[in-house]
Amino acid sequence: MKLTFYGACKTVTGSCYLIETEDIKILVDCGMYQGPKELKERNYGEFLFNPAEIDYVVLTHAHIDHSGLLPKLMKKGFKGPIITTKPTMELCSIMLPDSGHIQELEVERKNRKLLRAGKEILQPIYDHIDAGKVMLQFKGLDYELLTELSPTVSIRLRDAGHILGSAIVEMWIKKDEEKIKIVFSGDLGNYNQPIVNDPTNIDYADYLIMESTYGNRIHEKIGDKKEILLRIIEETFERGGNLIIPAFAVERTQDILYYLGILEKEGKLPDCDIYIDSPLAISASEIFKSSVQYYDEETRKAYEISGQSPIILQKLKMARTQEESMRLNEVRGHAIIISASGMCEAGRIKHHLKHNLWRPESSVLFVGYQAEGTLGRQIIDGKKTVKIHGEEIAVKAKIYNIEGFSAHADQPALLKWVSSFNKLPRKVFLVHGEIEGIEKLKELLEKTLALDVIVPEWKQSFELPEKQVSASEKLTDRDLELLYNTVLSKLNQIYKTNMEKNDLELLYDKLKSIEKVI
Ligand SMILES: [Zn+2]
Repeated sequence: MKLTFYGACKTVTGSCYLIETEDIKILVDCGMYQGPKELKERNYGEFLFNPAEIDYVVLTHAHIDHSGLLPKLMKKGFKGPIITTKPTMELCSIMLPDSGHIQELEVERKNRKLLRAGKEILQPIYDHIDAGKVMLQFKGLDYELLTELSPTVSIRLRDAGHILGSAIVEMWIKKDEEKIKIVFSGDLGNYNQPIVNDPTNIDYADYLIMESTYGNRIHEKIGDKKEILLRIIEETFERGGNLIIPAFAVERTQDILYYLGILEKEGKLPDCDIYIDSPLAISASEIFKSSVQYYDEETRKAYEISGQSPIILQKLKMARTQEESMRLNEVRGHAIIISASGMCEAGRIKHHLKHNLWRPESSVLFVGYQAEGTLGRQIIDGKKTVKIHGEEIAVKAKIYNIEGFSAHADQPALLKWVSSFNKLPRKVFLVHGEIEGIEKLKELLEKTLALDVIVPEWKQSFELPEKQVSASEKLTDRDLELLYNTVLSKLNQIYKTNMEKNDLELLYDKLKSIEKVI
């Protein structure tokens, strides 16, 4: 069996992994690259495999950096099913056409320049019609159902707790008499997030392909998130400004609405207007409202008691049309504007930043991961001016960045999830992270759990299981006995060095993890 990494290697976007078994080829995710130009250019190139030869796509969740190139895959000859959860399928049915529109608009803008320069014009990667067509290939699967893809491959989707419908993929592959299990973590959620469940504990894996977005970060203990949100709102309104929240249209927007909803019900929310200015976020909120069976227990109970979706607020106003959105540019204060895209790369959020960033009385609150090279990252990194639509804009507004609102597990949560395996993986491949996050997490997994960790390069392949020479081939019984005695005397030696209690505990923990691996 061969596993090849075609995306999200030492970066957080473009997730795409190919598994080739004796009888089928499966792609896990087919995501779009976002952020720096040199990465985005990969979206335009040919696939590095033949899409017509792929039998299945298994999709972990709806975010565009995991699903965004599916319409292109179809255009280039992929005809098989795309297997994912039902909420992911519903979310993709609005997100992929939206992404198609964005491709069309981007190319239109570039083509105007190319035409004026007398150059050949470009075609969009795909348009909203391609995106609509690929939806016909989607097959919704319930969590926890074991499904056979071929005589040698079965899969099961487990709740990843990242966004509505997000999944961890368990994959069993049979070869000769051996059966190996590969687990793709997808994007993992934080524990105790609103609306979604905690990430599911996995029993075991032979090989684990794991995200590492926040591998080097510990989300601040922000305690009661809604109280912090309230403080930011009050401070901003005291200065007479607006609060701008760049938020991913799916999950982040609904999480913020959830907290604002509680504040409103508790009568704490100051007099204000709350706007969702993103047609996609409005449609996604509709899907959230009708997905009660996928809520976590707490949210479901609250829904059953009140009979009302947790993301419905009295003060909420929707800006669907361009005109409604533009009218918000005139609002000087006492408004909370939640708009996409979450990393401020495109969409209506750019207009709100243009009209508020230079005003010291306004605030911008970041609630999600800001990838390298994005406008959002420049702002949280403290740039004094930024360029929006070709115009120099001063950054005078108060900037808040609260990672605790993120949909991604932080370092302790990532470790907690791996530690919950009853039998630890033989190898862990770290993906979906920037290099600092990956390196830190690698070090921790090696030190605390004695795991064998690999950081794959883009396009790198691995033959699994690796060809192993068995111990009996390498060592005679006599050799083994000697080795055993050496291990014992080594342990004895370490102990005799007057170990501190902490060291002894550390040694014990390590031995326990080695036992788990064995
Ligand atoms: Zn994601």
